[in-house]
Amino acid sequence: MNAISRPSISVDLQSDTRTKPRPHILSAMFQAKVGDDCYGDDPSVNALQAYCAKMFGKEAALFTCSGTQSNQIALLCHTKPGDEIILDHNYHIAYYESAASAKFAQVALNTIQSPDGVLDVDTIDTAIKSRPRGLLYSKTRMIGLENTIAFHAGSVFPMQNMERIGAYARDNEIKVHLDGARLLNACVASGTTPDQWARHVDTVSLCFAKGLGAPFGSILVGDSETIDRAKAYRKMFGGGMHQAGFMAAAALEALRTNVNRLAEDHDNARLLHALLKESPNAKPVHDTPPTNIVIFDVASTGLNSTAFCSKMASHGVHLFPWLKHVRAITHQDVTREQVEWAAGRIIEVANRHAEQRMALV
Ligand SMILES: *Cc1c(COP(=O)(O)O)cnc(C)c1O
Repeated sequence: MNAISRPSISVDLQSDTRTKPRPHILSAMFQAKVGDDCYGDDPSVNALQAYCAKMFGKEAALFTCSGTQSNQIALLCHTKPGDEIILDHNYHIAYYESAASAKFAQVALNTIQSPDGVLDVDTIDTAIKSRPRGLLYSKTRMIGLENTIAFHAGSVFPMQNMERIGAYARDNEIKVHLDGARLLNACVASGTTPDQWARHVDTVSLCFAKGLGAPFGSILVGDSETIDRAKAYRKMFGGGMHQAGFMAAAALEALRTNVNRLAEDHDNARLLHALLKESPNAKPVHDTPPTNIVIFDVASTGLNSTAFCSKMASHGVHLFPWLKHVRAITHQDVTREQVEWAAGRIIEVANRHAEQRMALV
């Protein structure tokens, strides 16, 4: 066995979806009381849904399989085939789910190419007016927003913009769906509460299997009428789950115990950012991270981002290629010490490759 090629430490910064359930979460699952959620009598699912409805200040909530499923159900609830939705071109719904929206809701995406994922009333109004309207043409039925904004290093959407967009949408009979996969990161970072965001929009989705550390699932919240229809769409997606209470109990335990902990992930992301900033060959591309995502540039190493990530994996640091850059996401399974160690390895490998490249020139 070659000890050098097999790192004894392994730090996984690929995504906060990589988190594994901790003992207290597993114990909540083992102790969960379950029924059959397709009959509506699973007490753990009902408890989770009631907790989430209250947390968001909405009438009802639906436990779904994933963030993507929540988003696609929201699109089905708010639109009809041939309608149009407005959103930023790099939001998850447009960037990762556009084929799903073509397949299921069958809506046209009118995307805004904003530099930072922050939409406002003017850019939305301009996007709507950029296309012909009237009886012969498609109507804008939904605006999609995202918070935190994943593509832009987990930035927090400005509350004031969400408030104005909400008012504009109501005036124009347009629904608003907020993809809040990491909304609790935004809340912890900005000292806000979920209901403060939710009051400006019709539906919100939130992921349990990211920084919250549950193994599975997402919630979709909205008014009762919308959530009743959402339940039917979930069933059509094959998402009617019977003893789902085991999973719901994990999500509820995560909500009760792991929300404030997200601040540690944000501290660790700031630490990683500060350490990488000192290196000429792994420079962060954004300012200090507001939440848990750091994106950095390795162009000077002569390696593309995929090659750099596989090189780092062989050194025990698992990163995610993010177009031409590299992405690291901090989460509960990575300690401060591991972040320091990982930053050291990243800088060392990046510097070595940059030096080799210079030697060749
Ligand atoms: C992770 C994520 C989702 C949903 O992801 P799933 O893997 O389907 O749970 C949706 N939107 C954003 C912004 C995300 O980061």
